[in-house]
Amino acid sequence: MRLVLVGPPGAGKGTQAQVVAAHLGVPHISTGDIFRANVAGGTDLGQQAQQFMDAGELVPDSVTNAMVADRLTHADAAGGFLLDGYPRNPGQAEVLQELLARTDLELDAVVELVADHETVVQRLLERAAKEGRADDTEEVIRRRLDVYDEQTAPLVDFYRQRGLLRTVDGVGAVDEVSARIIAALPSANA
Ligand code: ADP
Repeated sequence: MRLVLVGPPGAGKGTQAQVVAAHLGVPHISTGDIFRANVAGGTDLGQQAQQFMDAGELVPDSVTNAMVADRLTHADAAGGFLLDGYPRNPGQAEVLQELLARTDLELDAVVELVADHETVVQRLLERAAKEGRADDTEEVIRRRLDVYDEQTAPLVDFYRQRGLLRTVDGVGAVDEVSARIIAALPSANA
């Protein structure tokens, strides 16, 4: 199963991606987690990404696409994957399609996790108070939401037109939302 999870910051993508990937037995590939690990490790990649992340902007496509292309060649992704936080704009979506097409593969589904702005701002501010992620200040949260609306939301139509989109309500208890996502997946894994 090759899946993409899309939704605004704070919709719970990371939490749900872990549960759903474990359920399906595929790796959870979070571009945000990979970037954060590289920032923490002080790598070249981390240095290229950090200023954009701290501002709530997207890391340039050249950097992000190369990172994902590399990650998808790892052996654990051969039988499927759950991508969380990628693609995040139409150009990345095109690149992903081309990457998969090279080996005659396609996505099986794109799950859109929906949550209203008020809910996500509240959740992100709560997380900021607990975990202190550098990009969880109120100003940067607002910028990340604007970037989502401007650059990432158009992907929903792109995938709807291709018949891949499954829209799931992201508001509710973690296990309720996980159950909704699993129920919305194509039947191969039911
Ligand atoms: P959230 O969805 O909560 O905003 P993520 O952990 O997915 O958080 O991403 C954090 C940051 O990492 C983004 O604001 C962006 O700077 C960078 N990032 C993650 N994925 C991508 C991507 N596909 N393209 C460009 N930048 C990305």
